[in-house]
Amino acid sequence: MKIAIIGAGNMGGAIARGIVQGSKVKAVDITVANPSNGKLDALKAFNPEINVTNNNQEAIENADIVLLAVKPWLVKSVLENISFDAKKQILVTVAAGVAFTEYCKIIGESATIFRVIPNTAISLLESTTLIASYNASKEQEQFMLDLFDEMGLAMIINESQMSAATALTSCGIAYVLKYIHAAVEAGVEMGIYPKDAQKMVAQSVKGAAELLLQNDTHPAIEIDKVTTPGGLTIKGLNELEHAGFSSAIIRAMKASR
Ligand code: NAD
Repeated sequence: MKIAIIGAGNMGGAIARGIVQGSKVKAVDITVANPSNGKLDALKAFNPEINVTNNNQEAIENADIVLLAVKPWLVKSVLENISFDAKKQILVTVAAGVAFTEYCKIIGESATIFRVIPNTAISLLESTTLIASYNASKEQEQFMLDLFDEMGLAMIINESQMSAATALTSCGIAYVLKYIHAAVEAGVEMGIYPKDAQKMVAQSVKGAAELLLQNDTHPAIEIDKVTTPGGLTIKGLNELEHAGFSSAIIRAMKASR
């Protein structure tokens, strides 16, 4: 498999690095295109075997997969200025909010297209990556799943779920960080040094997530384990609900969608 990545910014750069560290595609089979050289030089420094170019058309020559990682408003002009071959090539796009129907207008309805939405943790290979497919075979879907699973956790969903799922994963990461920030402020007010408080809270959040992911359990079951009748945790949990915690999270997710 040869992959051309158009756009070497946060997403394109992180995906290129992630693919190189995985087992599915070799560095020599990746070509990254970007108009300016700074980000391409950084990729070369990361792995000299990655091919780089300032020319999008040159990047996609001989590519099996063309991965678009430009801002959503540039998708149309970038696609119109390359000769994408829908018979031979697969289009993968990370542009948020651009529907399959928009791509079909440019590259035709017979094209195979994947919409992929990673989150910023992809730079640490800890992304939650959403994948929706159009005209793809089961084998092509499995390839995409395996490719992005090596950069965290990848899930195939319907395009109709994309906006809601993006609120949970891409926006959701900011809500979790907001919780961490607030908890650290509480720690500081109670006399803990900020750096220590941040380590305590961040590792607690990581631990809570791992309990669910590794034990395949339910949050209520894990909460029950730390909630002694008349104890410390239930007092805090009830304060959270008194302030509208669950309602605020649900409203935030729906607003982001
Ligand atoms: P970015 O600005 O960091 O990167 C975009 C890159 O595209 C830049 O390096 C820019 O130089 C390059 N570029 C501009 N015009 C180009 C052209 N004509 N040809 C080739 N390259 C060109 O943006 P980003 O944060 O990486 O976002 C890229 C896409 O990823 C967006 O569509 C966004 O919706 C999507 N996305 C981002 C996130 C996120 O958390 N950042 C998450 C999911 C999806």
